[in-house]
Amino acid sequence: MTREHTALALVLACREALPGHLAVTLLSREGDDSGEGGCEIRSATLFGGRKSRLRAMVSPWHTGRIWLYGQKSGGAEKITDFDVERYRHTFRESFPKAQAASLVSELVIKTKAAGGAPRCWVLVNAFLDGLDRAAEEETGAALARFLWRYLDALGLQPPLDACVACGRPFGAGDSLVYAAGENGFLCPECAPSAGGGPSLSGEGAAYLRALSSLGAKEARNIPLSAGEEGRLKGFLFFLIQAACGERFKTLETFVPD
Ligand SMILES: [Zn+2]
Repeated sequence: MTREHTALALVLACREALPGHLAVTLLSREGDDSGEGGCEIRSATLFGGRKSRLRAMVSPWHTGRIWLYGQKSGGAEKITDFDVERYRHTFRESFPKAQAASLVSELVIKTKAAGGAPRCWVLVNAFLDGLDRAAEEETGAALARFLWRYLDALGLQPPLDACVACGRPFGAGDSLVYAAGENGFLCPECAPSAGGGPSLSGEGAAYLRALSSLGAKEARNIPLSAGEEGRLKGFLFFLIQAACGERFKTLETFVPD
């Protein structure tokens, strides 16, 4: 690896490190947009320049081409330039959007970019682009769709077709009980003997099934009642925390529905 190099990067988080310097966490992808390269989480430092143009560019959820200096394996790299291609300005004006994006940053960091899957780059950037264009009230449903797809990228999406205990295929309106030990769902008959767990209503299960079989554009048009959106998000928050084995800091600040 040469000491000076470039990659596609999304700024996931920034924090003030040594006085005046910024510690930056990036999701980066080698190669160009058409490449199949994997993606990874990396740390980099932006030195000084509180009022510099570069400091304004290196800001959460900006995506573009970054130039880095230093050994990737030898600790933090230094950011020397960042050519932003997507700014996502609306996140600054919308608390729900910024909150959803913060949760996504935490999820991507905690899962090490879904294990470095190339799909992680596409999923996360497409979600942020869609959220930027969407009306604020669409944030919750967009976040639920993203989390369900991300669980699939992690290989941890629980199957919605049949009961993990008895194998009986689920009916369209069945409400399902989650069984953490099997990462699957139980039918109404098997659930009571398993002691119960978080549940998914018939409407919630139908929504998630439709997501798995539809493209992004069609998925946006599936109706979801406000009450069900809140319950579904709560269930997905439970699943991502179970997948990571720890609580999420950003969820402590989430305003309940
Ligand atoms: Zn069953």
